[in-house]
Amino acid sequence: MKIGVLALQGAVREHIRHIELSGHEGVPVKKVEQLDDIDGLIIPGGESTTLRRLMDLYGFKEALESSSLPMFGTCAGLIVLAKDIVGEAGYLSKLNVTVERNSFGRQVDSFEAELDIKGIASDIEGVFIRAPHITEAHEGATVLSTVEDKIVAVEQARYLGVSFHPELTDDYRVTQYFIDHIVAKYKED
Ligand code: GLN
Repeated sequence: MKIGVLALQGAVREHIRHIELSGHEGVPVKKVEQLDDIDGLIIPGGESTTLRRLMDLYGFKEALESSSLPMFGTCAGLIVLAKDIVGEAGYLSKLNVTVERNSFGRQVDSFEAELDIKGIASDIEGVFIRAPHITEAHEGATVLSTVEDKIVAVEQARYLGVSFHPELTDDYRVTQYFIDHIVAKYKED
């Protein structure tokens, strides 16, 4: 399958590497026209306010709002996919969750934790960088993982969202799960 990585900001090359390690083709997506040519899209981390500004500027908000592409958001990408953001308006509003930004506290800006992710594995290394967490998973959204009682991974039909950066380790099982279980099921023929 052909998986796009939104290439406006963030660790694009690392995501493409995980797609390739999963046995699929990865392409950087810089223009909305490319959305017609892929089976699924990964929205990387970065800074969600900047990411939203760039997505507005290049027409991705409009194009993705009306799209049924399977999408996987990591960190800032999760924030962009969420229906509600604490203190701000939701953006793409695809994942029926409320997220809170930078919510692991200042003293723990970045940390790593071993995650038990339902349906994927019980030993996934999660790299959290000024990470958001999901304060509530609403109807239709299934919680896949928590850290200290905070929700850090959810799935809802064609959407997957995680608080951490799977692409910054060598372990590509989360990306592989997105492609082989979610994209395979929901991609358009
Ligand atoms: N703190 C960032 C935000 O709120 C997300 C951080 C990240 O993607 N690593 O947008």
